Amino acid sequence: MNLALDIAGIPVSPDHYIGGQRVASSESFEIFSPIDMKPLGRIAQGLHAHVDAAIQAAQRAFPAWAALSAQERHTHLMRFAAEIERRADALCIVESNDAGVLHSRMRHGVAPRAVQNIAFFAEHALTLQDQRIETEQATHFVRHDPAGVVAIITPWNAPLMLTTWKLGPALAAGNTVVVKPPEWAPLTCSLLADAAHAAGLPPGVLNVVQGTGAVTGQRLVSDPRLARISFTGSVPTARAIAQAAGANLVPVSLELGGKSPFIVLADADLDNASRTAALMYRNAGQVCLAGTRLLVHERVAGDFTQRLREQVQQLNIGDPRHDATEIGPIIHPRQMNRIQGFVDRAIAAGATCLWGGQRHAFGPLYYQPTLLTNVKQDSEVVQNEVFGPVLTLQTFASDDEAITLANGTDYGLGGICYGETAHATAVAERVHTGFIWVNSFGIRDLAAPFGGCKRSGIGREGGDWSFEFFCDVKDVVVPKKPFRASFAHR
Ligand code: NAD
Repeated sequence: MNLALDIAGIPVSPDHYIGGQRVASSESFEIFSPIDMKPLGRIAQGLHAHVDAAIQAAQRAFPAWAALSAQERHTHLMRFAAEIERRADALCIVESNDAGVLHSRMRHGVAPRAVQNIAFFAEHALTLQDQRIETEQATHFVRHDPAGVVAIITPWNAPLMLTTWKLGPALAAGNTVVVKPPEWAPLTCSLLADAAHAAGLPPGVLNVVQGTGAVTGQRLVSDPRLARISFTGSVPTARAIAQAAGANLVPVSLELGGKSPFIVLADADLDNASRTAALMYRNAGQVCLAGTRLLVHERVAGDFTQRLREQVQQLNIGDPRHDATEIGPIIHPRQMNRIQGFVDRAIAAGATCLWGGQRHAFGPLYYQPTLLTNVKQDSEVVQNEVFGPVLTLQTFASDDEAITLANGTDYGLGGICYGETAHATAVAERVHTGFIWVNSFGIRDLAAPFGGCKRSGIGREGGDWSFEFFCDVKDVVVPKKPFRASFAHR
């Protein structure tokens, strides 16, 4: 076991958590805080033996965990949720330092949601075994059986939220889990392992193997002993995972990137629309569901742009640990170079940069909120996810044109549509995405489906949809009349 890292006075283990114990590795990698690029310490690198040990531990724990009733698992998981809640302050401080997420957002949004992610699905699982289908011939008892050992792989932009969002239903359904946290922001997952330990989750039910995607992640998703792989991240990684899973026919759930349209119709309330548009710079644009393509009716484009400019001028960019900050850092120099590359190439191709377009003076990993106009629909910056504070603006003259532009990328995650409510709803219904907000943004419910169309993903998470994925659904058929075997039966 290695010494705990000290993150603003909070001890965080850099080791794996396998079979209920901390496990060190002979190899490690360094992590740093995006706030100031100061090193935070070294994290265990998951080698083949660690992945193997974690899957074995999960396999060993599976029969007993799966055999518990939903009510018994509920008791365990409510204890787990309570231990997460007890650590809320630590989780907020650590994720803010590790991933650069606003501390205020962690405190008011993410930490309570992490607790809810576990409690909601533990509760929801209680209702699952009640389904039955009655016919003249038989009663069909529809069971949601646990599938087995599940791999959970998450990205760095929302590690606590996304890990618990998957853990809740996976564990409530009776599966055991191996989590591979993101290498650029692994620390809150280590604290989740502490919470599971303190809650007395049986050893092996929840395992955490730290490590890089190319080594640890790839080894994990290639293992034929897995029953499910639940992944949130980028399209290129999803292709690698789907390929590895395909070789073993392991079902995958993929929540991927987006290039969501933000449509502003001529009858929109421009004040509200521009306020919401400014929110697209939240988390420095490192948000999968952000509406990064502003599509604005040509009649109101000037007025809308002016209002958005005023909103953006007021944004407070700086240290995410301070309450007044609204935009924090980019996660990594590699991501920073990627963002600058997109902007430079767009400008070289004829785009106009209305604001931003370069690094922010606050520190090496801060980027100015940026708006590019005069961009072509088939250009790189319109077609590809930048994952930074960079929006594009295009205009349209009719609803049909807005929808053609909105649907004209390979992505199909989310969308936003501002306009007179009936009009905006009618337009929203024609946008090919997994979800779309009318005159609003970010309203979520754990029971509602979440996921993307086209290259933005496969499958849906939330409510029943999470359980459909994490369970083996089984029909137990009991005839109502005595059954006499005959070759004439169908
Ligand atoms: P990424 O795909 O680079 O990495 C995601 C995770 O996959 C990390 O834990 C990484 O270590 C792991 N990984 C990398 N290569 C792997 C491999 N070969 N096998 C197994 N695991 C591997 O994504 P990222 O840069 O961390 O995150 C940003 C991306 O995530 C963006 O595209 C964003 O849109 C997407 N995202 C989507 C949602 C959603 O709900 N749809 C939510 C958040 C982020």
